Amino acid sequence: MVACGQVLACWTLLALLAGVSADPARYDHFRLYRLLIETPAQVEMLQQLEKQSDSYAFMGHARQPNQNLTIMVAPHKIAEITELLQRYELQGSILLYNMQELIDREKATIKPKGTRPEEFAWQFYHHLDTINEWLRWQAGRHPELQLLELGASYENRSLYGVKLGTNPANSGVFVECGIHAREWISPASCTFVLNELLSSDRPDVRRLADRFNWIIFPVVNPDGYRYTFEGDRFWRKNMQPYGVCRGVDLNRNFASDWNGPGASNDPCRYDFAGGSAASEPETRALVEFLERHVAQWRIRTYFSVHSFSQLVMFPYGYKVDRVPNYDDLVAIGRKGVDAIERAHGARYVSGAMIETIYPSSGDSVDWVYSALGVPVAYTFELRGPPDSTNMFVLPAEEIIPTAEELLAAFIAMLGEATRLSYYDGERQEL
Ligand SMILES: [Zn+2]
Repeated sequence: MVACGQVLACWTLLALLAGVSADPARYDHFRLYRLLIETPAQVEMLQQLEKQSDSYAFMGHARQPNQNLTIMVAPHKIAEITELLQRYELQGSILLYNMQELIDREKATIKPKGTRPEEFAWQFYHHLDTINEWLRWQAGRHPELQLLELGASYENRSLYGVKLGTNPANSGVFVECGIHAREWISPASCTFVLNELLSSDRPDVRRLADRFNWIIFPVVNPDGYRYTFEGDRFWRKNMQPYGVCRGVDLNRNFASDWNGPGASNDPCRYDFAGGSAASEPETRALVEFLERHVAQWRIRTYFSVHSFSQLVMFPYGYKVDRVPNYDDLVAIGRKGVDAIERAHGARYVSGAMIETIYPSSGDSVDWVYSALGVPVAYTFELRGPPDSTNMFVLPAEEIIPTAEELLAAFIAMLGEATRLSYYDGERQEL
């Protein structure tokens, strides 16, 4: 027990002893509401509420009538939100009464730090270091697997990835995962897919590994991912401070209509676009890597993996114009959605990002498509459904089925893109 003469000195000492991240955010009695917005007055009220108070965490923004919206409400605001819902006659339901219970339950499904790569398993979620060790271990066992190390994050962590396959005639598939820290199912699914590509005997998976070179980065926001384990389970952004707030939404930080619709210029917001396009070291590392390798490695396909909402989306997110190969991307997306449903019955929806979810500017997929000319570019939102009661805290027993769905989608979508001749031209160049 530490004896404290002065309260202030005691606090300082305890803070030093504890370290910042040993005292994580708590969400006791935070509630999750699902609202159905029907009138312009309701839209305006919710927009005001989001602007004025950080006690409401919005999953998306209120934009128009006939829209569903999920919000997380701090316990000291429960009376206020109850009154507001009544006064504005807003229809809605309470999906969950205590977010902290969800987080506490999830802890039992996290493998401890120091887990050896041999014990890596998809019945569990894994710390950042465990994922990186597992990548290193796999690269040591498979000569066709090359470990990639990019730049460094704001907190000076490397972005680790792998390149699987060495056939120069193959087209490259880039898989970007974990750009949003709290979406743990993304790194989990991407490592599962990599493992299947390395070790599965299934002929369709072997074909995928043989016909494409795979570049997979399981955690492109390493600081944020670590922070969700030790600081705040619902953190989304990177960790760079901007005044009293911190963190840039890396998926709003790319040079595709940067800081346009669906992004914020307020550093305290969850979708803060950053100081400028590619202001963040993690974004710059990805941009420089992709610019250097897109032609050399024939990267014609880009998958960005997120959660939740069960969507398979293609550009654009920032404008309503249709992309030149819209019909093809509709067809490829449909194949993905059908394959997902065949796997375990989950229903996903496919479409252009702006038509499917909400306007978003500065995201990686739009940038890769527009600036680098990668023609087959998709953002996945994995399980759960839009009215999910656990959002980013997907139970660990759903990791494997969710990852199997993603693999099934990759197989079907790359098959359809091959049929549509997206990978032909390059072979002819040889
Ligand atoms: Zn996301």
